[in-house]
Amino acid sequence: MEVTVRCPQCDAALPINVDEAEVKICCQRCGRETRLKGTNAVISDTAVDSCPVCQGNDFYIRKDFDPKTGVAIVATGAIISAVFYYFGQDIIAYGVLGSGALIDLIVYGRLKNVTICYRCHAEFRGAYKRTADVFDLHTADILEPEWERKIRRR
Ligand SMILES: [Zn+2]
Ligand SMILES: [Zn+2]
Repeated sequence: MEVTVRCPQCDAALPINVDEAEVKICCQRCGRETRLKGTNAVISDTAVDSCPVCQGNDFYIRKDFDPKTGVAIVATGAIISAVFYYFGQDIIAYGVLGSGALIDLIVYGRLKNVTICYRCHAEFRGAYKRTADVFDLHTADILEPEWERKIRRR
């Protein structure tokens, strides 16, 4: 399974393929080494049962959306519509602006879900079955500080 680990020291996103029970990853930014413990389910990409980073069992899902892609689509639409607007084609300009937002919506709807660890924010991508619930702020409020105390951020 592909896991994106958040470096406990500098918060850098570190993608790694967890295919063994013990995996080590070295942060490219700050050099900190993080040890991962992959469970059988994680290694075989069948389920996210336990987090390889913090050993937590609490996860949520969200759309695997890269905000940069969305911004790029809207920005492109805005530039094209500005050109039409400049030449006095207001209606086409608004149409282009609207279709940019629509494409954004379609892209968003087709996105897969990604599972995220409440405690350490590791992200899990793969063919496994999504079983986690959507994000719950109350749960995050309890679990996040627990992990941050553990890695001595608080
Ligand atoms: Zn780091
Ligand atoms: Zn975790």
